[in-house]
Amino acid sequence: MDESQLSLRLSTAASYVEQGDRLADIGSDHAYLPCALASNGKVAFAIAGEVVKGPFQAAQNQVNRLGLTKQISVRLGDGLEVLSPADEVSAITICGMGGSLIASILDNGFKKGHLTGKERLILQPNVGEVMLRKWLVDHNYMITAEDIIEENGKIYELMVAVKNPTEKSLATASQLTFGFYLKDKNSAIFKKKWQKELEKNQYILASLTKSSVDQTAKIKLIEAEIQEIEEVLK
Ligand code: SAM
Repeated sequence: MDESQLSLRLSTAASYVEQGDRLADIGSDHAYLPCALASNGKVAFAIAGEVVKGPFQAAQNQVNRLGLTKQISVRLGDGLEVLSPADEVSAITICGMGGSLIASILDNGFKKGHLTGKERLILQPNVGEVMLRKWLVDHNYMITAEDIIEENGKIYELMVAVKNPTEKSLATASQLTFGFYLKDKNSAIFKKKWQKELEKNQYILASLTKSSVDQTAKIKLIEAEIQEIEEVLK
């Protein structure tokens, strides 16, 4: 198993793992990501963390089957609680969950001291990108890279973040919503995502204007969102 056998979503996340990283993959159902990266020698050590027994067992079976037990430690536990300082983790991947769940895993880890700030975070939220970006910026992380991909009819965003030990991280509302780099990449997938959002908002606006109760406040909000998206799509 190597990176080429991963889904596009996971292989994109894997591309941000650096040669020699000590990796923790949190929410590691089947341990696909650490197995691919350990198999091709990109990581010499990885942790596959899982909170649910079934996926934990599936991850353990996969690691055993591929003979990777020396390189990959499969651990049952909630979020970053499976990590200890001796692991000296340099990169954490959290993929395939909602942005709010990823942010809560990071937040719990931060509060309990499992997130040291030395790790590069490679995050792939299925939804809820805005609140995840907000958590990162509020906790002084700098988003250093972003990607957007489409697989099986779904669009996914990925982000890489590192702690900024000196300066306070700042972001505009527009950067939190549309990302720091995605707009400038001018990608067809980015445009497709926001065209869909635009159409959704236009549909909501049409329904609100037909409502028999006063929807002025909501209408103003949706109109502002539509205007913002139209600006970005220009
Ligand atoms: N990361 C894989 C991927 O992207 O294909 C698996 C994604 S799967 C949809 C999400 C996994 O995260 C599930 O196996 C779930 O049990 C696990 N999970 C959810 N919350 C977790 C937590 N707090 N700590 C560890 N694992 C968690």
